[in-house]
Amino acid sequence: MHAWITPLALATLLFVPLAAQAQGASSSGDAFATKGGELKIFFLGHASLYFTWQGKIIQVDPWSKAADYAALPQADLVLITHHHRDHLDAEALAKTRKPGAMVIGTELAAQQAQDVTVMRNGDTRQVMGLTIAAVPAYNLVHMRSPGVPYHIKGEGNGYVLDFGGFKIYLAGDSEDTPEMKALTGIDAAFLPMNLPFTMTPEMVAAAAKAMKPKVLYPYHTGDTDLAKLKELMKDAPEVEVRIRDMK
Ligand code: ZN
Ligand code: ZN
Repeated sequence: MHAWITPLALATLLFVPLAAQAQGASSSGDAFATKGGELKIFFLGHASLYFTWQGKIIQVDPWSKAADYAALPQADLVLITHHHRDHLDAEALAKTRKPGAMVIGTELAAQQAQDVTVMRNGDTRQVMGLTIAAVPAYNLVHMRSPGVPYHIKGEGNGYVLDFGGFKIYLAGDSEDTPEMKALTGIDAAFLPMNLPFTMTPEMVAAAAKAMKPKVLYPYHTGDTDLAKLKELMKDAPEVEVRIRDMK
């Protein structure tokens, strides 16, 4: 130990790597000002992300392949969009769920995980100062088998989250449905883009041009060509397309 390392400097040296580790790969995140204080978004991958707001952590669709949840701070609230494995992962949920944390999900999710508070399409709830609206998420075009969509209307949720007037839309696994296109006042929208399960770049662009979020985050992107989406959105400069690593 060199004499010039003060206890404070030592504490800083020890603390910084721990803090960086605790936030995983996406330690910087994106920040937005809301009337209720700063909202930060951390991008874990695929459909998995989390928010920090007013000292609370809100995890969305925790999935073990997207992050090591044991290395992340535990969630005060978890939102599950639907029961598919890349969105409802019992192992990730168990790791991220703080004792007593509310987990909000669909009816089918509640059959697969314990203590899930069910929200149906059209339901609204207030949780921790946050207003949560569950909206439909489903396929119109892409079918698992003739007549059976990958995502059946009524089974899955998208969520509109109102953080002190700042509105985030998480589409879940959905196509550009009339309900999605009718959303207004969205500050940041997460729209899924991979085939055959969700949207083509053309569908994402059509939804974004109708909804006009201030910021568009394509997510759940798989192998989709993100440059194609950027190209399609060139004539809608009012929507900022932000690419994050959400493969
Ligand atoms: Zn799905
Ligand atoms: Zn999915």
